[in-house]
Amino acid sequence: MNVAEISESAVRRVLETVIDPATGKNVVAAGMVGGIATRAGHVAITLDVDPARGAALEPLRQACEQAVRAMPDVLSATAVMTSERAAPAAPSAPLATPARPHGHGPAAKTTGGTGRIDVPGVKHIIAVASGKGGVGKSTTAVNLALGLAANGISTGLLDADIYGPSMPRMLGVKEKPESTDGKMLKPIERYGIRTMSIGYIVAEDTPMIWRGPMVSSALEQMLRDVQWGELDVLVVDMPPGTGDAQLTLAQRVALSGAVIVSTPQDIALIDARKGLAMFRKVAVPVLGIVENMSYFLCPKCGERSEIFGHGGARDEAAKLEVPFLGEIPLHLDIRTTSDSGHPIVVSQPDSAHAQAYKNIAGRVWKQLSAPQRGARPAPKIVMR
Ligand code: ADP
Repeated sequence: MNVAEISESAVRRVLETVIDPATGKNVVAAGMVGGIATRAGHVAITLDVDPARGAALEPLRQACEQAVRAMPDVLSATAVMTSERAAPAAPSAPLATPARPHGHGPAAKTTGGTGRIDVPGVKHIIAVASGKGGVGKSTTAVNLALGLAANGISTGLLDADIYGPSMPRMLGVKEKPESTDGKMLKPIERYGIRTMSIGYIVAEDTPMIWRGPMVSSALEQMLRDVQWGELDVLVVDMPPGTGDAQLTLAQRVALSGAVIVSTPQDIALIDARKGLAMFRKVAVPVLGIVENMSYFLCPKCGERSEIFGHGGARDEAAKLEVPFLGEIPLHLDIRTTSDSGHPIVVSQPDSAHAQAYKNIAGRVWKQLSAPQRGARPAPKIVMR
């Protein structure tokens, strides 16, 4: 079924008809509409509200939903109230256990001065990023993490893509993470790696509307309040794009480096360059670029077609003086395995594709383990 796209401006016009009885102003004019997101007939709205009015605004919230739901082609409408002004530092997030640390195992900490989040016990945190969505960032992050593990490196994977968490699907995780002490969550082990995703905690059909500070808070908690234990590498699958949320994450987390995933199309490379600029701005070493969907490999005849002009990322990497980590073809097996919870590195470990991911993982590890590049300075020992 084709669903007509609903424009943000059409939603806004409808919201202009919803009047707040307390002020006599419509919600748009009153500056209450914080954000509107539409996707395939589903509309999500955030309403910035004065916390003092709290529950009194519930009828207004419902009126917004009803008005939008009555629009042609709208399948669902969800309005949520946020009151960022009241609690800018700790907005409600699914893992709400901010107090730290009192000896619950390896709690992450913010190191003094720079405000950077470090996870004790984890030697290297690396980000997998892309300039835009749909380029195969998550597929690369999963197979890279499994490729590191296949190389004998103890690895964790944090799905930081809280707008569209993909780890439940890609790793076939259905269970919820457990907590032994009501404070720290145990990561879910899959295929020999420790994993955590907001998708393990929040049901898939729950609308998730995040604002900048909430994103950082949820991510910090997923680093802090998860018993990652001792790891050589924690791979962080970043939210797609290079907006404020990504920049904050790149700034706040003590990253050893970043891997940028790009398709060969020029347009994607422009986006990839933005990713590169973002990490450079915050002095995070870029470990290299992966060209995903590099060329098409026909699953029937094995013929190779360079439909997207293969090689763009390699050339671009050379121009930008960042390492080129490798290319992954567009192949049905990569999609079906990762979309069915059995990523190719573990389900077809001897295939050429699995080998390509393992080689990329090897190149990443080589940089991380080289003393002069990528590695973070050794942690300071504080005597008390
Ligand atoms: P992103 O994280 O950038 O949004 P995903 O990793 O979720 O992208 O990939 C988007 C879709 O493309 C998924 O269905 C995934 O299985 C598929 N995909 C990713 N890389 C490949 C590839 N190399 N070959 C075939 N399908 C791929």
